[in-house]
Amino acid sequence: MANYKNELSWSASRAKEFTRCRREYYYSRYASWGWWTEKPRGEKYETMVHKNLTSLPAMAGLNVHDAIEHWFHLKRDGVDMSAEDLYNEAVDNFREGWRQSSTDAWKSAANKMTHLDEHHYGNEITKERTEKARELLERTTRYFVDSVDCKPAREAHPDNWRSLESMDTYMFLGTKIYAVPDFAYVDGETVHIWDWKTGIPREDDIFQLHSYALYACEKWSADPESIVLHVAYLNEQRVDTIPVNVGKLGEVQDHMSMSVREMMDVHYDPDEDPVIMENWPRTSDEAKCRWCRFRGICLPT
Ligand code: SF4
Repeated sequence: MANYKNELSWSASRAKEFTRCRREYYYSRYASWGWWTEKPRGEKYETMVHKNLTSLPAMAGLNVHDAIEHWFHLKRDGVDMSAEDLYNEAVDNFREGWRQSSTDAWKSAANKMTHLDEHHYGNEITKERTEKARELLERTTRYFVDSVDCKPAREAHPDNWRSLESMDTYMFLGTKIYAVPDFAYVDGETVHIWDWKTGIPREDDIFQLHSYALYACEKWSADPESIVLHVAYLNEQRVDTIPVNVGKLGEVQDHMSMSVREMMDVHYDPDEDPVIMENWPRTSDEAKCRWCRFRGICLPT
């Protein structure tokens, strides 16, 4: 395998993790680093396994994202996918994730396959919870295909598409910034950026969307005031449309700059430098540990 280097990189979700608990961020970004070189498998591999745990609602959300992405690919090929087709695809994705997690198939590629937190920690998944997940798949896919609110995204011409769930980066303060708008297209001079959400609305969503607006400015030289953000809360059946204003974008950039510098202060190369554990304290808010994916290796048993 190529000789990778652990370089500092930033994304809205990494920043959230860094703020939530330094120790969690350490497990995620440093302690699992180099697991592929560990022979025999040991702590690094174990940490990577925990890093890749996901929850049932998060898996259902991903299943919907993947199905919608496929919907767009088929549209580009001239194929129309009905609400029922989209739902069936999301259900197939869900079943496949469930199979990988419940049969231990995930062990054949723990960094790529689905492994549910609930299975890992032996927490019962009730019928009510799986039914709720099924309802989410149905409600969200139906809303995407049938609603008037999502029509502008559905009807955007493929020639005008700029981004479709593709991971991309740009540089800011010498640091690689990851930005993954779910979908973006241009309409004349206006850049429309869409994000599909299957959970409830959160304040962080607006920050995340604005970080995509910065990406649009950087990558496509978009004028900030010609960018429109759309957060589609598919399960809530509503789309919030937010025009970007330069003041707000400046605030987001300041926040990003502070966040990148904080991460920079404690960044180290785990292949070369010794770890300074004082930089990675556990959170003092125990409520955050209850559902943390690293609780099995972090907390005393
Ligand atoms: S279990 Fe708690 S202290 Fe440990 S990484 Fe998770 S949130 Fe942080």
